[in-house]
Amino acid sequence: MHRAAILLFLAVFLAACSTETTYQGIRIEGPSKFHEDIIRALKLIEEHAPERYADLCRLVKVIRLTRRRPAPGVAAYCDGEQRIHVVSEYYYQWAQQVKVYPVAFYYMPAIIVHEAVHLLQMNEGREARSPNAELEAIQAEQSLRTRLIQWHRVVE
Ligand SMILES: [Zn+2]
Repeated sequence: MHRAAILLFLAVFLAACSTETTYQGIRIEGPSKFHEDIIRALKLIEEHAPERYADLCRLVKVIRLTRRRPAPGVAAYCDGEQRIHVVSEYYYQWAQQVKVYPVAFYYMPAIIVHEAVHLLQMNEGREARSPNAELEAIQAEQSLRTRLIQWHRVVE
């Protein structure tokens, strides 16, 4: 196949795989399974961390899947344009884990809450990269994950 034809085919294929939807004012960018996972994660945040949810909807404009991993071990990161980027390498590993351990699903809402705390810090003009800022985000993340795991035990 001619190189241009291959590139055209690839572009059409990727466009078909990647779609956009908006949920509660948050634009989600990625394959359809990613949309489902993010919407389910947002619903769990709304239900189990309502105190975080209003800020989250106000501050997060986009949640997107990205191939860029800024450092090893980074699952997600946010930017000054109110976007949360979920690293695809992490996402696909997580999706495999969820198939075996459904409880692993709760990592996704926890990660979104973690990044939303950083967006809140930026929005309030606070330092978002200091150890204290990271601690605040980790505490919010762990608190939600603990609540979700306890709830999971009750409903199982
Ligand atoms: Zn962080």
